[in-house]
Amino acid sequence: MTDELQEAVEKEDVDINFDCPLCGKNISIDARGAGLMITCPDCQQKVQVPIPLAEDDAAVVPADDADVRVPALQRALAEADSRRERLVAELEAAQRRVVLLEKSAAEQHERFEQISAELVMIQNALDRMVTLLQDAGVRDA
Ligand SMILES: [Zn+2]
Repeated sequence: MTDELQEAVEKEDVDINFDCPLCGKNISIDARGAGLMITCPDCQQKVQVPIPLAEDDAAVVPADDADVRVPALQRALAEADSRRERLVAELEAAQRRVVLLEKSAAEQHERFEQISAELVMIQNALDRMVTLLQDAGVRDA
């Protein structure tokens, strides 16, 4: 037996762990049982042992494949950058809106004070008119 074959056999000699699709019981079985129908020890139903994916099938980017990784990282960085720029722009817009609202509130406060002052003047004028009318009434009586 070559070393390569020995390694392959050893790699295969790992238990398959899976949950029974019928009762959820965790079942552990020798890797050689992959794809076989077995009886679940818990619910006694026939279940098929899943076949583990070969490593070649795994959708994992090899860590040493810089040709693939670097452009992917650059894309991710560019996306993060544009997302950050959008957030900064949104933040600045929100800050401008706060400044505008504060200004508007200050203006409204000023206007409110002007209206209050005018109301006081109108009240004073009305008071004077009432006094004048009362004086006139007194004189007329
Ligand atoms: Zn079961």
